[in-house]
Amino acid sequence: MQSSRSRVVMPPRSRLYNISPIGIGTNQVESLTSYIARLSEAHCVFVTDLVRYEIFNAIEDLPKSYHRDFFRKAEQINGQNSLAKRTVTALESLTLRTDLVDLTMSRLKGIIPTNQLLRQSKAWCKYCYQYWRDSGDILYDPLLWSFKIVNYCHVHGCRLSSNCEKCGSCLTYLNKCTRPGYCSYCNSWLGEIEQKINIDAEKQLFEVWVSTNVGDLIRYLWLDKNLTRNKLRESLIYYVDVVSSGKPYVFAGMAGINPDTFWHSYKGISILSLGDLMRICYFLRIGICDFINQIAIKQSWDNNRRTNQRASILKVLDYEIVKRQLEKALSNENPKSLREIGRNIEIHPNRLMYNFPELCKAISERYKVFRRETSKKKGEELRKQVQDTIVYLQSLDIYPSQRAIKNVLHLQKIFIKPEIKQIWQDILSKQELNKE
Ligand SMILES: [Zn+2]
Ligand SMILES: [Zn+2]
Repeated sequence: MQSSRSRVVMPPRSRLYNISPIGIGTNQVESLTSYIARLSEAHCVFVTDLVRYEIFNAIEDLPKSYHRDFFRKAEQINGQNSLAKRTVTALESLTLRTDLVDLTMSRLKGIIPTNQLLRQSKAWCKYCYQYWRDSGDILYDPLLWSFKIVNYCHVHGCRLSSNCEKCGSCLTYLNKCTRPGYCSYCNSWLGEIEQKINIDAEKQLFEVWVSTNVGDLIRYLWLDKNLTRNKLRESLIYYVDVVSSGKPYVFAGMAGINPDTFWHSYKGISILSLGDLMRICYFLRIGICDFINQIAIKQSWDNNRRTNQRASILKVLDYEIVKRQLEKALSNENPKSLREIGRNIEIHPNRLMYNFPELCKAISERYKVFRRETSKKKGEELRKQVQDTIVYLQSLDIYPSQRAIKNVLHLQKIFIKPEIKQIWQDILSKQELNKE
C-alpha cells in the first residue's frame, strides 16, 4: 500500500485556473483580452489586479513600458508584437496551457502586414451576446471582432456595435471591470434580441463576406501552421495568369486595387494587405481558403465573365452611380481623359474600361478629338505669333533669330517643337526668295 502511494506523482499545479479558451481551431476563437477578462472573473478579482499582481510578476525582465502600455494599448495583446508574445508566455506559465498563442494574431506575422490590423477599441455583436446568454453559453469576445477590417457579424449580418447604448462609452479592451457582454463603465448589458436584417446592399454583402473570410483565415492558420507569404504569392501569380493572362496591372485594375501596390506584391517585394487580399478573393468569387489552395476557377470564370461581369464580378462598385458619373463626364464641356476621370472618382481606368466599355470608349474618343483640335488650334496660334514677331523684329531692324523671338514671346521652349522651327525657317527662306 505504502509503495503504491509513493509511486503517485502529483501533476504540476497551475497558479491560476486552467480555464479552456473558447473556440480554438474555429473561426470563432476567443481573443486573449477576452480570456484575461474571463480569467479575472473566474478568480473573482478585478482585471487590473490580475494583470498587476499575477501577469506582470510572471514576465521576466519586465520592461517599464509594459506597465504603461498594457491597458493603454490593450488591443495589441490580441496582435502579434512583443506585448502579445510576452502576455501569452506569462499566461501560459500561470495556467500551464500551451494553446494561448491561438488567441492572438501571431500566426499572421510575416504572411500579412500587421500594421493597421487591429481595431483600437472593442466592437461586438449585440445579437451574438444575447444568443449566448439565452442559450446558457459562456459569454466571450471572438478574436474576429478585434480585426479592424471586420465591421459586420457574419452570423447575424448586422453591423458590430462600438459604443454602449446606455452610457455611450467607447469600450477599451481591458480595464478594471471588463467583462464580456457588459459595459465596463456602466455595467449595463450589451446584448439585444435579434431583429431580422435584410442583407441586400452591395456594401453590406461585401462586409459580411469579409467577416466570414477573415474567420476562415483564422481557422486555416490553425490547421496549416506552415502557411507562408510565398504560398499566397504563388496563388496570386496563378490567378493573374488565369484571369488576365499574366498581366498584373490589368488584374489590379479589374479587382479595383492600386496597381503599384499590387505589382509590388506580385513581384514579392511587399506583402498584400488583408484588405486587398479580401478584395481579390471577392472579385474572384472564391473564399480565402480556396484562394490559398489555388482552386481552379478558369472554367466558371470564362462562362460567367461575359454574362455576369456587370452584375456580379465587381459587386462593390456601385454600378448606377459610376455610370451616371461617366455620362456626366462625357457630356462635360471640357472633355477629360479617362485617366483623369478615374482619378477624380477614385476608380482605376482599367476597371472602368472593364465595366463600362462603350462609355469609356466614347470618353476616350472624344478626348482624342478634343486633344487633336486643341493642339491644332495652338499650333495655328503659335504660327501666327511667330509670323507677327518676325515682322515686328524686322520693323525694328533686328534680325529675327530664334533667341530674339523667344525673348519677345517669353516662350523659352518654343523652338523645341520641330514644327515651330520649320515655320520659322519657311518664313525666313520665303523672304530670302522674295528679296532675290
Ligand atoms: Zn452576431
Ligand atoms: Zn455603458
